[in-house]
Amino acid sequence: MYRTHTCGELRLSDAGKDVILAGWVQRTRDLGGMTFIDLRDRYGITQLVFDMNTNAELCEKARKIGREFVVQVKGKVRERSSKNLKIPTGDIEIIAEEIDVLSSSELPPFTIENETDGGEELRMKFRYLDLRRPCLRENIILRHRMAQEVRRYFDSHGFLEIETPMLIKSTPEGARDFIVPSRLHPGTFYALPQSPQTFKQLLMVAGFDKYFQIVRCFRDEDLRADRQPEFTQIDCEMAFVEQDDILKTFEGLAKHLFREIKGIVLEDDFPRITWDEAMSLYGTDKPDIRFDMKITEITMLVKGKGFTVFDNAGYAGAIVAEGCSEYSRKQIDELVEFVRRPQIGASGIFTVKYNTDGTIKSSVDKYYSTEELAKWVRAVNAMPGSLILIIAGEREKSLSALSELRLKLAGDMGLRKAETFSPLWVVDFPLFEWDDETQRFYARHHPFTSPKPEDIDLMETDPAKVRANAYDLVINGIEIGGGSIRIHDSSVQKLMFKVLGFTEEEASSQFGFLINAFRYGAPPHGGIAFGFDRWVALFAGEDSIREVIAFPKNNAGRDIMIDTPSPVSKTQLSELMIDIRKP
Ligand code: ASP
Repeated sequence: MYRTHTCGELRLSDAGKDVILAGWVQRTRDLGGMTFIDLRDRYGITQLVFDMNTNAELCEKARKIGREFVVQVKGKVRERSSKNLKIPTGDIEIIAEEIDVLSSSELPPFTIENETDGGEELRMKFRYLDLRRPCLRENIILRHRMAQEVRRYFDSHGFLEIETPMLIKSTPEGARDFIVPSRLHPGTFYALPQSPQTFKQLLMVAGFDKYFQIVRCFRDEDLRADRQPEFTQIDCEMAFVEQDDILKTFEGLAKHLFREIKGIVLEDDFPRITWDEAMSLYGTDKPDIRFDMKITEITMLVKGKGFTVFDNAGYAGAIVAEGCSEYSRKQIDELVEFVRRPQIGASGIFTVKYNTDGTIKSSVDKYYSTEELAKWVRAVNAMPGSLILIIAGEREKSLSALSELRLKLAGDMGLRKAETFSPLWVVDFPLFEWDDETQRFYARHHPFTSPKPEDIDLMETDPAKVRANAYDLVINGIEIGGGSIRIHDSSVQKLMFKVLGFTEEEASSQFGFLINAFRYGAPPHGGIAFGFDRWVALFAGEDSIREVIAFPKNNAGRDIMIDTPSPVSKTQLSELMIDIRKP
């Protein structure tokens, strides 16, 4: 028997018991007559004591044991004289009678503690050591608990967990596919799924009516911060549902996770706003509504007074930073610099200070009278003591700059509190998105998303105006999930492919299986997929999803621990009939 108890288990009530523990040596402290070892496993840390006076030989042996050795110890539990209130086992210690080294360890390349001296690269290379750090261990346990709660919720609501294939067919829509060569059929390839989208729809045609899966998805995208080439979705689909049924069911899942995992009871329905509202009030389709600070459009108000910047602007919008009328020149310059960064690209910020004494001072005083500025103040609903920040220019660009400025200001003002959670649904996304480069429309969500019935007539005449039955769940400015009511009518699906520029042959060679399936009785259906990694990261309070994935890739898409991607042997390539060209 390797152990009678774990290292996180023993309490004062166990004093006097003979126990066996096994684990890793966190650290050894040598205090002359006494040697202490902190023994660690997944469950916690227990202090071991070796006494020179009672057992000198054993004490000598203990002194030779280094960090991260795996040891087994036999001994008796006793009350500690100096208790450690910080750990659950801090009332007791084990007075050791025997110790055996089960496995020795080289000196680890970084300290196995929350505050480690190891850089990202080193930690990734030795990920198994990194995972011994309590913070990462807790994240992995949290992830497990969330996965179990997801399953519990779905099971109790009649959903079936059904696996879908990993080796599928390459389809050009969406991101780039990872492809896998076939040896048995040289010159042909499988693709790894970007999501199980078409399969879950086929499951609805098959009659399974409520499906979910916690599933790995693969997208060969250029790596942006916090993207992984493989990531996990909670993928869901339901038949015989309307948008409202879906939102209610999955709002239920979100509330379940908040309650069971975070102990937060969210009583109210999540707010729902349309994509149009989100864009004009927050400048983004994933607004952080932990704080208000909505954008007010003031285009018409500022035009026509001879200030050319505003006169030439297609749009002018303002946000109000309450209590910030005393911002210094330097603070405002910093904000201007922030919005001028190339990623944001605004030309500047105009400010109006609505002072606590009711006076108004602006950066455009030359062009506007106090009465005019007072109108602006009223239009944006500012309270005395506020700083009003205005960005003007092209509409979309200005709104997106205002969105970034809004987040930055709220961050500076401490309004983005980590332990506050503000979920909302953004609904009625546009069905299409125009791409300037290729001069064509793309499906904003994916080509199976249905248009609003009242907008179907616009599909061929004015695609940009067509709204979709598509929705996103956003929490604290993070897109946690997205989905749609699907097209279940083959004629609408055909029309969709047509608008997307597919010829009939292309549509049928790529999606023939789905179009065919719809000929045999497809129920109305819809679904959603949640970014599981993101959701765990949000609950863990981590900025990066790498901190909640056991074995993630680095920012360049490499796993530096197993060293991949890497070349394969000539034999493997020749079996696949693949020649590698020199770059
Ligand atoms: N398959 C979609 C995605 O991965 C989600 C959905 O529409 O259910 O974004």
